Amino acid sequence: MAKTATKKSSKEIKAAPKVGVVSLGCPKALVDSERIITTLRSEGYELSGSYEGADVVIVNTCGFLESAQKESLDAIGEAMSANGKVIVTGCMGAEPEKIRAIHPKVHAITGPHQYESVVGAVHEIVKPVHDPFVDLVPAAGLKLTPRHYAYLKISEGCNNRCTFCIIPKLRGDLVSRPAAHVLYEAENLVKAGVKELLVISQDTSAYGLDIKYAESQWRGKPRKAKFLDLAEALGELGVWVRMHYVYPYPHVDAVIDLMAAGKITPYLDIPFQHAAPNVLKNMKRPAMQEKTLERIKAWRKTCPDLTIRSSFIVGFPGETDADFEYLLDWLREAQLDRVGCFKYEPVDGATSEDLGLPEVPQSVKDARWEKLMAVQQEISSARLAAKVGRTIPCIMDEVDGEGGGNARSQGDAPDIDGAVYLRDVPKKVKAGDIVNVLIEDADDYDLYGVIAE
Ligand code: SF4
Repeated sequence: MAKTATKKSSKEIKAAPKVGVVSLGCPKALVDSERIITTLRSEGYELSGSYEGADVVIVNTCGFLESAQKESLDAIGEAMSANGKVIVTGCMGAEPEKIRAIHPKVHAITGPHQYESVVGAVHEIVKPVHDPFVDLVPAAGLKLTPRHYAYLKISEGCNNRCTFCIIPKLRGDLVSRPAAHVLYEAENLVKAGVKELLVISQDTSAYGLDIKYAESQWRGKPRKAKFLDLAEALGELGVWVRMHYVYPYPHVDAVIDLMAAGKITPYLDIPFQHAAPNVLKNMKRPAMQEKTLERIKAWRKTCPDLTIRSSFIVGFPGETDADFEYLLDWLREAQLDRVGCFKYEPVDGATSEDLGLPEVPQSVKDARWEKLMAVQQEISSARLAAKVGRTIPCIMDEVDGEGGGNARSQGDAPDIDGAVYLRDVPKKVKAGDIVNVLIEDADDYDLYGVIAE
């Protein structure tokens, strides 16, 4: 009797291994997670939305402040008890002993940007099942952020030595990416549907210093690895280009002209951290001698729509009542649009603790924080109220399909600033669309309006 064989395909289709990713910390850490995921996806791994469904969990940690370290250690603990196969990376990975002391059974620990080591550790736990015909990775990589905006990291590390900060210890000195690499990545993101690029690094205006502003070819032209040149080139992509972590070095003035000309988004995120000269000196802040108040006024004259966001620290060791009052007066004069404020926390390894300056009591820190936020709230709400009645371009973030939706103006960075809440959104409008919005109302943080015809 003839035997019939069941015809099998030449290879068994195996289920793709699954990886869970917990990404903590700042947008810079998010970009690191995106790169790791892009690599793993290109090798055939799938993402798992739960610890239980994952073959391995990667925890990308933040080590900036004591509170962030605690959050990271808690997240590792959660992943260990729910899954047990855990790889730790990111800023806190630079201090493995701290992690091992609490979670000795973590499979591997790598520092920031050690993408290959993370991927290697994943291979040790679960081998890749790669099928180049099945696994398609978009050229621009897989992103955790919504499709219409993306972070663009232009350098790693920092040459400054602000006394409250341990980033240079954790991430090393400035290492800039060649301009062409950044520009190709930006171009790919735009091809993949991105409408807004958020340029990030530890010190964006110092970009290229370490590689002596080397030129590289993009779109048939030599491009310098320099803040202004990069901004100009990114402006050719026809999408919103938002600059974060810019220090007010003198050459920043020229970028304001690009904003006024509509080439890049009129938005500057400048972490001033303080205004009183002796606090700035104790903090060892870069570019703070540059007469910032006069320059802010000049920038606004050149580009009246410029939005300035900043962050401040109150209660830095040695900050006196007079220093704090100086800061408040400075804020009243500067009229910044958006402000975040932190209460100083001592960080292990930061040199601020070795300065021998008197600590500010917690109750004083709390009171100063309240006061600063109240002063700034008045300024921010007045600046938002001045937009009522204007029609301004906004990017749609979400549409609920029932006429509601929220968007952001050029003055609002995702996740950190406010939103523009819309009524009567037409059905054809979708997330990522840039629409003109008539602003009808404003409160302390957000705007309200309707899409103008
Ligand atoms: S500029 Fe200062 S605060 Fe920012 S990363 Fe560098 S050292 Fe830290």
